[in-house]
Amino acid sequence: MSYQSILDGIAAEAPKYFGKGKVASYIPALAQVNPDQFGIALLTADGELYKAGDADARFSIQSISKVLSLTLALQRHGDRLWQRVGIEPSGTAFNSLVQLEYENGKPRNPFINAGALVVVDALMSRISAPTHSMLETVRRLADERSILIDETVSESEYRHRERNAAAAWLMKSFGNFFNDVDSVLRAYFSYCAISMNCAELVKAFSFLMNHGTCLQSNTEVLTPKQTQQVNALLLTSGLYDAAGDFAFRVGMPGKSGVGGGIVGVIPGKFTVCVWSPELNEFGNSVAGVFALERLTEALDVSIFSGLA
Ligand code: GLN
Repeated sequence: MSYQSILDGIAAEAPKYFGKGKVASYIPALAQVNPDQFGIALLTADGELYKAGDADARFSIQSISKVLSLTLALQRHGDRLWQRVGIEPSGTAFNSLVQLEYENGKPRNPFINAGALVVVDALMSRISAPTHSMLETVRRLADERSILIDETVSESEYRHRERNAAAAWLMKSFGNFFNDVDSVLRAYFSYCAISMNCAELVKAFSFLMNHGTCLQSNTEVLTPKQTQQVNALLLTSGLYDAAGDFAFRVGMPGKSGVGGGIVGVIPGKFTVCVWSPELNEFGNSVAGVFALERLTEALDVSIFSGLA
């Protein structure tokens, strides 16, 4: 079966999952999104792009941006970054604060909120215009100039910043946070509020399937070693405390966001992005997880099969 017919089949089946989850409402601007939408896009290592459903509709990338901020911070700090943020799954919710107190302000991994905030703090110690730099990076990686930040979403997040602000201040009390908390929160929320569609996201993340080199711009984004490490972290922590379930059912590194997007990668083969706004209790898209499970089943690929 061709990629196109598999994606078409998945998009046709996805509406079965509408109504089975809840759109994120703790960020009021996200609660406005029409829940009954589903998109999927897949980019192969030889540059073929396939799309089905609402693959061209933009949505809030939310925590998917944590992979991009980690990438920018790794470019600037290299392995030193791992002194400030861990590489272990957390087994707790993405916005949990409990572990942070026990573990002296060092977040478990860069994909929970506390970890992403430390990463953005590290980035801000090296770049003067963090929002502009991120936007330019994403536009270059996706080869799409029209990508923008949704200011309504970032403002809405800022107005409801209590938990993220608490995490940042707690880390500051342990000496693991150096910049002004409010400026870091502003930058972090602007990254989460980047609006992109599935087709743009598979392009932006092509470096993850291609040893660190972006397929669009043919530039090295991360070294091959760093790329393997980021993929490993995506497998163990990309879907928070549902990472085990995702590895078991889907079998690929991935990153979800509360906007309903999930990006997945089979190194050497393809990047895929699915989007559907309704979330399960872990904050991962219900139809999105179903779609990726179907996809790996239909293609008979998994990073664990040896066939990928
Ligand atoms: N911006 C969201 C937050 O800080 C990101 C969470 C997510 O997508 N899991 O809560």
